[in-house]
Amino acid sequence: MASRNKIQQTGSAVVMGVRISNPEKALWPASVGDQPITKLELARYYETVGDWMMEHIRGRPCSIIRAPDGINGERFFQRHAGPGTSKLLELVKVAGDRKPYLQVDRLEALAALAQVATLELHPWNCAPQHPEVPGRIVFDLDPAPEVAFDRVVEAANELRGRLAKLGLAALCKTTGGKGLHVVTPFTLAAGDSVRWPEAKALAREICVRMAADSPQKYVITMAKKERTGRIFLDYLRNDRMATAVAPLSPRARTGAPVSMPLTWQQVRKGLDPMRYTLRSVPDSLARSRAWKDYSECERPLRNALKRIAAGGTAA
Ligand code: ATP
Ligand code: MN
Repeated sequence: MASRNKIQQTGSAVVMGVRISNPEKALWPASVGDQPITKLELARYYETVGDWMMEHIRGRPCSIIRAPDGINGERFFQRHAGPGTSKLLELVKVAGDRKPYLQVDRLEALAALAQVATLELHPWNCAPQHPEVPGRIVFDLDPAPEVAFDRVVEAANELRGRLAKLGLAALCKTTGGKGLHVVTPFTLAAGDSVRWPEAKALAREICVRMAADSPQKYVITMAKKERTGRIFLDYLRNDRMATAVAPLSPRARTGAPVSMPLTWQQVRKGLDPMRYTLRSVPDSLARSRAWKDYSECERPLRNALKRIAAGGTAA
């Protein structure tokens, strides 16, 4: 053991120009028949999928979850720079907080984040470079433990249909956990005064209607006891400082699951979110067309607000 530690302390690797110390450090322990996932493997994962990720994190404050001793060790949830934060990360001031927030604007910053054992990235959902302006709504579908995953798949598809009736498009991703995220990117005209209160009210109204139509399937209250057998439609995360896990971010959970962007063809019966792991995702992503239409999915939010205020659609 002593000699192994010595190798860990003296060895280092370089990924995207960033020195990775302790590259053999296990961050996700070995599951049966597997090697543990090391810090170096994490850095290389970010290098492989980083270009894809950047579009969805760049220009937005980003919280991180670090686990220097791996997923079974202590975790640090971090919004702000700390001593030793790499210069490859951007620091941004936002109203209401004296301390600047972390922001990931360049690919190499992902290697710097791997170096400090960043297992998860959680950006804001603002418009890039405009922290006060909402840029996408995220519906967080949270099933109670006894709910089959196929029901979550149905909920995501239903939500997509309701959004379409309001003139909005939707994209779907696994969370790397138990639910799905339905993401609706949108545009605001220059000078539009819409901010999070309006975007959140819209998200709420859509979820209220969906739960009202199928109260046996969906709830919009946080209360745990009302969630039994149901899916919690969490619209509450749509707020100025709220975050959602980034697409392609790994999760600090057993098996290194990843929040995987999906095509709607994949959001169907039998979908198994645990298939998407830090090890499997690079190949899956290379073959996938998921989210290639992200920018085409950005529709004017103003129109949807008008339609829902008119109350005329069945959305
Ligand atoms: P799951 O499918 O297992 O629910 P999830 O990522 O949706 O995975 P949630 O706990 O439902 O996990 O949280 C939704 C999002 O809200 C997260 O992706 C995260 O960005 C944010 N979030 C949740 N809890 C916190 C917290 N305590 N502090 C900051 N952000 C949080
Ligand atoms: Mn969730």
